[in-house]
Amino acid sequence: MPNNTFYNEILTEHNIRPFHKKKLENPDFTLEGVNPSCGDDIILALKVDDGIITDGAFEGDGCAISQASCDMMLDLIIGKPKEEALELADIFLRMIKSKITDEEKDRLEEAGILEDISHMPARVKCAVLGWHTMEEIFKGATEGSATTEDM
Ligand code: ZN
Repeated sequence: MPNNTFYNEILTEHNIRPFHKKKLENPDFTLEGVNPSCGDDIILALKVDDGIITDGAFEGDGCAISQASCDMMLDLIIGKPKEEALELADIFLRMIKSKITDEEKDRLEEAGILEDISHMPARVKCAVLGWHTMEEIFKGATEGSATTEDM
C-alpha cells in the first residue's frame, strides 16, 4: 500500500487523541454498537436539533480501527442534517464493501483513508461499526444494540 505510513499516522492520531471519545450530556439518541468477532463495543450518542446533528460522542472499547473510524465519522457528521449523514454512511459502507467514485470518496474526507480496509476482510466489521450504529439510530432503533455480526 503506497500510503501506508500516512494511513497509520492518522489511525494512531485518532487513537491517542480521539476528539469525540467522551460522555455527551443529555443526548437525544444513544445506541450500543457491538462487533462480537473482534470484541469492539461502543456506545454512540448524538444530539439532534431540527434534523441537524448538533453534537456527538462515543464511549467504549475496541480496536484501533473501530475507534478511529467512529471518531472520523463524528468529525464528518456533526453539523450536518441527518439525511446527509445517512448518505455518507451509505457511501462509506459501499467504499468498504465494493467501490465508490472519486467524488464520493472526497465527500468522506479523512474517513476515505479507510478504503484499504476493504482488502482486510477481518477488519471490515471494525471499520463499519460506528457507521452502522449511526444508521440504526436514524432508522429508529431505540433499544437493544446494533451489531455488525450479520453484515
Ligand atoms: Zn475491531
